[in-house]
Amino acid sequence: MTIFIVLLGPPGVGKGTQAKILSETTKLAHVSSGDLFRENLKNQTELGKLAKSYMDKGELVPDDVTISMIRDRIARPDCEAGAILDGFPRTPAQAEALEKMLSEFGSEVNAVPNITAAESVLVERTSGRWTCRESGHIYHQTFSPPKQAGICDVDASELYQRDDDKVETVTKRIRVYLDQTMPLVDYYRQAGKLVEIDGTQAVEQVTEKLVAALKSKN
Ligand code: AMP
Repeated sequence: MTIFIVLLGPPGVGKGTQAKILSETTKLAHVSSGDLFRENLKNQTELGKLAKSYMDKGELVPDDVTISMIRDRIARPDCEAGAILDGFPRTPAQAEALEKMLSEFGSEVNAVPNITAAESVLVERTSGRWTCRESGHIYHQTFSPPKQAGICDVDASELYQRDDDKVETVTKRIRVYLDQTMPLVDYYRQAGKLVEIDGTQAVEQVTEKLVAALKSKN
């Protein structure tokens, strides 16, 4: 029995934060397509170089490379029991590819929480976000500042603002989300897998709602 959870929601809604918490509480692997691209970028792989040009503009990396990167990732042993998928799928073609690859493992997508918030909230949250260079821990200059400015509380590494967290890019990413990823909301609703979650609440409340919703689906 495996459990695959797809977290849907626009950039800045808190998907990454919730995915990390859920992964710790459920012991399921956290698979973030954005983190995988950033890791490739940091290691200057061919995939990283290709992805960078799209990421910097707030556009989606082409489906074929994204799909094969995720296929490799979920074939790894830590996904044997399932995974929390954060940022993938983001297009109908990716959703179809995911269905196919999971069916090869005798698995399926079990639940799809859709975390939502108004665009003004997303821009405010994302443009104030600082990320730890070492392990991707996330802070916010207003809502969850680090103890010492510019330094990660957990591993003391430098905090930086992702290029794609700048206001113009965030606005573009939200537009791309509405155009290309919103169709997945209907796709998963029709499949009876969608659960709506209000992302404007505090982190702990969103987690509570997510846990309750996942219990009802599994
Ligand atoms: P994220 O951290 O999930 O917001 O992703 C950062 C960037 O990585 C996105 O703006 C895209 O350029 C790229 N990316 C992440 N996931 C995907 C995906 N599933 N398909 C295409 N591009 C992606």
